[in-house]
Amino acid sequence: MDKCSLVVPCYNEEEAIPLFYEETEKVILNMPYLEFEYIFVNDGSSDKTAQIIKELAEKDGKVHYVMFSRNFGKEAAMYAGMKEATGDYVVIMDADLQDPPELLPDMYNSVINEGYDCVATRRVDRKGEPLIRSFFAGIFYRIMNKMARIDMVNGARDYRFMKRVMVDAILAMEEYNRFSKGIFGWVGFETKWIPFENRKRVAGKTKWKFFSLFKYSLEGMVAFSTAPLVWASFVGLLFCFIAFIAVCILIVRALVFGDPVAGWPSLACMITFFAGLQLFCSGIIGMYMAKAYLEVKGRPIYIVKEKK
Ligand code: UDP
Ligand code: MG
Repeated sequence: MDKCSLVVPCYNEEEAIPLFYEETEKVILNMPYLEFEYIFVNDGSSDKTAQIIKELAEKDGKVHYVMFSRNFGKEAAMYAGMKEATGDYVVIMDADLQDPPELLPDMYNSVINEGYDCVATRRVDRKGEPLIRSFFAGIFYRIMNKMARIDMVNGARDYRFMKRVMVDAILAMEEYNRFSKGIFGWVGFETKWIPFENRKRVAGKTKWKFFSLFKYSLEGMVAFSTAPLVWASFVGLLFCFIAFIAVCILIVRALVFGDPVAGWPSLACMITFFAGLQLFCSGIIGMYMAKAYLEVKGRPIYIVKEKK
């Protein structure tokens, strides 16, 4: 019988985990054709998450866990979970039941009967989410899809059902700066998208704040595209050209009309503008350097304190 591993990253989810386990158990009870295991990854929670996971593991032999030494982020937690997973299929699920376990049978069927390597989910709406967040998410996906030559779907969740080949491909990408939405697209494979309506988390609070999402989106761009570097050099070249034309015009004007020197305010404006532009472009280069720096150090993606 094939085995399916459910990887669940948890960060301060003491209230959500029991509900998640209960709901998921109901669903997998109706899937006797698959053997299941849970891999809970406790991402350095400061509440009782660790204790709750351990209690589950004592009660239920198919519950396994990885405890991190501190909070490493969801990306690291997903990576660790996939590494520990022994299944022929691996599913990544949030602990807050925003990823409905009822979809599991459909996902499995699509992989088995329709020949997909992976079934991913996306939310058709963003109900219950701040408007401003949806607005910027829309912009981010539009820019990202233009910049990086990988397909990224707006509203895509990390909730996906993957065959072992795809999981191994993802595990082979050992980069330190992980951006899963990009990694999933980058490895390729036949992916089916299942839409579903957005749900509120059952308990606890979201870990995302507006600024952390903004930072995350910039990291995604740096991780999956070098287009900003090209833009920076292009803008530099463009301004050189404009400056050259301007110089020609000024020389001709001085020769023909003998204009006296005038217009220092415009000069001041231009200096400020170009100083800003230069700093902006160095900033772009700096971002890539910073990422390269972290990558070169080769630090581990996560540190395990304890596992079962
Ligand atoms: N999570 C994690 N480490 C973190 C932040 C979040 O493992 O540093 C987990 C969290 O416990 C949850 C999932 O990632 O299971 C998604 O987090 P959240 O619900 O806050 O994100 P949202 O659904 O709002 O995008
Ligand atoms: Mg959530």
